[in-house]
Amino acid sequence: MDRAGYARALASAGLPEELPWRVTVSSRRRTIGLTAEPGGSLTIRIPEGMPSDQVVQAVTRRLPWIARATRRNAETAAAHATKELIDGENFPFLGRNRQLVLSARAGVRLDGDRLLAPVHVTAADIIGWYAAAGSDWLAERAPQYCSRLGVPPPALGVRDLGRRWGTCAPGASPRLVLHWAVFQLSAQLIDVVIVHEVAHLVHPKHGGAFERLVGQVFPDYRDRLTELTEQGRRVWMGDVRPADGRNGLHSAS
Ligand SMILES: [Zn+2]
Repeated sequence: MDRAGYARALASAGLPEELPWRVTVSSRRRTIGLTAEPGGSLTIRIPEGMPSDQVVQAVTRRLPWIARATRRNAETAAAHATKELIDGENFPFLGRNRQLVLSARAGVRLDGDRLLAPVHVTAADIIGWYAAAGSDWLAERAPQYCSRLGVPPPALGVRDLGRRWGTCAPGASPRLVLHWAVFQLSAQLIDVVIVHEVAHLVHPKHGGAFERLVGQVFPDYRDRLTELTEQGRRVWMGDVRPADGRNGLHSAS
């Protein structure tokens, strides 16, 4: 059995819904190895040739430990960036670095690898730009995955979703919404959010059928999801630090 086969089998092992996990298969292992990674994800190392029911059993037996260890790591590892709204600050878009350039011009816009903004730009302005630019990109990107998954394109949106990267509401007028902050990451990782959420229009719950469907689009789905979680911990969520000279901390006396 290959990695994808084990991943499908493990999709019904009862792992926590929100836990990102990945599978490796090694000819040098004799036993199953479970590692809670620093970002809060789980790596499941499987000896080559081990029957999948044996793998599922071993993982199921250790679910309490898995929940404890990964939660602890997730809590200590969140390290969202704080930015300064000054020339040269980096605001990545689609995985590429974009340098903030302040000028007298109004409005925020992208010019190659430069993000042009007015001198008194606020975090809300930049978040608004991410939402608008992300919406345009999503409108071009989402339809191809909807047709590959065999669902009609839902209505699209981009906004602050708190701790989630995406949501999808099924029903008569289905709607796919992505978090504005996810557009800092590479297209390869944003695609994971799109495919995951659109797949929920077919299978509302996680499990073997869901895993098979997303695996048809991305055979490396689990790896990408883990990467998304790890990189997602470091993206900018809107926190800004006052720039030097605009710092009010010592100005009162
Ligand atoms: Zn889901």
